[in-house]
Amino acid sequence: MIQSITAIPAFQDNYIWALSDEKGSACVVDPGDAKPVIDYLETNGLTLQALLITHHHPDHTGGIAQLSEKYACEVIGPNNPAITGITKAVSEGDSFELLGQHFDVLEVPGHTLDHVAYATPASAETGAPPRVFSGDTLFAAGCGRIFEGTPAQMFASLQKLVALGPETEVYCTHEYTQANLQFADACEPGSVLVGLRKSLVEQQRATGLITLPTTIATELASNPFLRCNNPMIVNAAERFSGSKPADSIATFAAIRAWKDEF
Ligand code: ZN
Ligand code: FE
Repeated sequence: MIQSITAIPAFQDNYIWALSDEKGSACVVDPGDAKPVIDYLETNGLTLQALLITHHHPDHTGGIAQLSEKYACEVIGPNNPAITGITKAVSEGDSFELLGQHFDVLEVPGHTLDHVAYATPASAETGAPPRVFSGDTLFAAGCGRIFEGTPAQMFASLQKLVALGPETEVYCTHEYTQANLQFADACEPGSVLVGLRKSLVEQQRATGLITLPTTIATELASNPFLRCNNPMIVNAAERFSGSKPADSIATFAAIRAWKDEF
């Protein structure tokens, strides 16, 4: 069973999540760089069993070749031939066991078309909450840029993550929370919940602390991209686009476009 989950910092603002069990086996999610992963494994005396890949971008896949060569580990990822080194391609509805833990695969296109997330259910035995490794789909107080999919696809993908339940812990790949909350504040000026979260995150970042994981409940309260049926967010979409959005997807599309140039 999973005993610890640690964020290994990489590049400017990436986190490579390392999961380990009581026997010293580990897997990592989205190793964009091999070096910090190798350092972490060696410092903690862990054996790498698998890599979990969410999508094809280099900051999530760059370490695959070196790690899989050094550790002969399994490489689990989306069914996209553009990603070199996948040994087990997964798609919607697939599940697998790793480190004594059950993982479910969710397809969450939008940021890229191949994007998947990995969810683990709550455990009555250990008291662990449900968790999801969301890559560049759902961020703390934000969401990934839409590079390959449509706003409707990204909206549906985010709703699929929301459906995992409010208590679900969200482990995304980037430390973007502070900038995301600046934007959330612009979308919902005067929101007490956004304001409180913004000052908490400012304190965390001022002392170099990570702002993750977040939870679906926290995101529902202050992430504009999950609040597209809220009148304040509808107003924000209208302010940006100049016309009243027809539905929640249009609201989502408008605020996503605003965030792109914020
Ligand atoms: Zn990406
Ligand atoms: Fe990324």
